[in-house]
Amino acid sequence: MANIIDGKKISAEIKEELKEQVAQLKLAGIEGTLAVIQVGDDPASSVYVRNKKKACEYIGIHSKSFELPEETSQKELLDLIEDLNEDALVHGILVQLPVPAHIDEKTVINAISPKKDVDGFHPESVGALTIGQPGFVSCTPAGIIELLRRSKVKMDGANCVVVGRSNIVGKPMALLMLRENATVTVTHSHTRGLKEICRNADILIVAVGKREFITGDYIKPGAVVIDVGIHRDENNKLSGDVKYDEAKQAASLITPVPGGVGPMTIAMLMHNCVEAMAR
Ligand code: NDP
Repeated sequence: MANIIDGKKISAEIKEELKEQVAQLKLAGIEGTLAVIQVGDDPASSVYVRNKKKACEYIGIHSKSFELPEETSQKELLDLIEDLNEDALVHGILVQLPVPAHIDEKTVINAISPKKDVDGFHPESVGALTIGQPGFVSCTPAGIIELLRRSKVKMDGANCVVVGRSNIVGKPMALLMLRENATVTVTHSHTRGLKEICRNADILIVAVGKREFITGDYIKPGAVVIDVGIHRDENNKLSGDVKYDEAKQAASLITPVPGGVGPMTIAMLMHNCVEAMAR
């Protein structure tokens, strides 16, 4: 029976550490500001934005909120980003995704200065990660590395299988595990023999976006299982990409949903903001 990796507890520890660092930076005369832009009023996005602002407040940095109407043009959004890029008092810029369909997400991501790219989505940030140079790292995969580190999971030499290759989770996850000297296999919707590949994993990281897709028989006995998925049913109950009850019988360590990877994403966003201030 697996032990649980408590993302709530670990993210709280990280936020305490960041709070301390922010206090130190304040003593040195540096006040941090994160600009948060939301276009439209998608309810899920509003919840994420609210939580990000709350986290800023908690660790002691300012958040500057831009709630733009759904019909905001791409040019208006890009002009705002440009102003914020130039604003020396703003350390990080975050555009809550998804943006409305008439705005091109890639153009928006590319417009944010890599120096303020606290989401780590800019091609320059991704390129830096690829060749092992300093840069902002996408928050969810960075949070998973922290979960593994703080749970004392040996990544060096481990067989790690990542299910999913999205730009925000799967790909940066694979690069980070490679940086930790794991032997990494990345799988996707064209992969053949997924179950056998997963059963070879010492560390299985699942970001497939399908509810309870990974069942107990995908898991090598004693493996560490990280479930990135978030699904909400009609009763508002959350579940992940992994069938938790089965997986926890086989795994040695597992992240629950909720309370596993989810809380780490915001903690690592705060980490990136503090890094931007320190730079
Ligand atoms: P995407 O939908 O962008 O990517 C899903 C990936 O899974 C794709 O690479 C796809 O392959 C792959 N895939 C789909 N079907 C299969 C299959 N049958 N076998 C193997 N691979 C398959 O999702 P995201 O990466 O954005 O998110 C994944 C999950 O994580 C979602 O549930 C999302 O809600 C959650 N999430 C949670 C976060 C958190 O903070 N906890 C943050 C971000 C996401 P292909 O490329 O071939 O299409």
